[in-house]
Amino acid sequence: MARIAFFGLGNMGAPMARNLAKAGHEVVGYDVSEKAVSAFVEAGGRAAGSLAEAVREAGIVVTMLPAGPQVDAVYRGEGGILSSARQGTLLIDCSTIDVATARAVAATAAEAGMAMLDAPVSGGTGGAEAGTLTFMVGGEKDAFATAEPLFQAMGKTIVHCGASGTGQAAKMCNNMILGISMIGVAEAFGLADRLGLDRQKLFDVSSKSSGQCWSLTTYCPVPGPVPTSPANRDYQAGFTAAMMLKDLKLARAAASETGAAVPLGSGATELFNLFCATGGGETDFSGIFRFLEGQVPKQM
Ligand code: NAD
Repeated sequence: MARIAFFGLGNMGAPMARNLAKAGHEVVGYDVSEKAVSAFVEAGGRAAGSLAEAVREAGIVVTMLPAGPQVDAVYRGEGGILSSARQGTLLIDCSTIDVATARAVAATAAEAGMAMLDAPVSGGTGGAEAGTLTFMVGGEKDAFATAEPLFQAMGKTIVHCGASGTGQAAKMCNNMILGISMIGVAEAFGLADRLGLDRQKLFDVSSKSSGQCWSLTTYCPVPGPVPTSPANRDYQAGFTAAMMLKDLKLARAAASETGAAVPLGSGATELFNLFCATGGGETDFSGIFRFLEGQVPKQM
């Protein structure tokens, strides 16, 4: 069983850390937010008072932080993980961040004698609680093999995508598909309404035809056809529009760095930007349907 220091005990990190502990690992949590630490301890977790204390005995460090700047600072900043952990410690970053930062931090880690994997996830807080996340992992084969049992304790589908940074590449490509497809489905329902086509009938046809996709069949952006979708609870967030915008911006920046053509990805970024700017940021991202319908989204 591994000794694990887990950084970032937020909506995703706390349940992931709990699942590692449930699998028998010795987990010490750390977060800059006192509230996050207390909630973790109240739920039975063990917390460290400082970053250095958390990593001192750890053979493995897992981070689940908001974005690239926090990841860079926690690993490479003064008094950060790379200067506090022992050589040979395996580092796993599960946050969703840009490929360039993921690769740069992994390269500095390698210079300090530590292997690092980028291992972002898909599946949301429900998947984190249930231990059914999808992990997309970039980094060396040996490091992946060591980490695989930990991914299995937190997830169901685990894919080694290739070299360092390819986990983050998979995450942003997947979420660009998701952002674009959600807008496409929302536009189709808006058009159906105006053509006098019943929403359920469009669902019955498209869920079994070539328009079929996750945004339609699992996360349908109109109330009714999929009772568990956020549209049925006033678009209360499972995955917020702000998170979607963050991921689309990562994809657009990567496209401009690499020269990839992403006209729909760019368009989706603009639409989610407007949606968030008009108060929709904390709404579920499928609330883009209501935005397209011209209704200002309710602040959640
Ligand atoms: P969150 O804001 O709930 O949690 C992040 C935690 O990191 C917070 O508790 C914060 O205090 C802590 N933190 C920030 N800086 C820190 C530091 N320097 N040291 C220690 N702790 C620090 O966010 P979340 O929803 O848990 O998301 C985490 C990551 O997972 C993000 O990159 C997000 O894009 C990704 N993600 C989220 C979801 C989702 O549905 N929430 C799904 C897939 C991926």
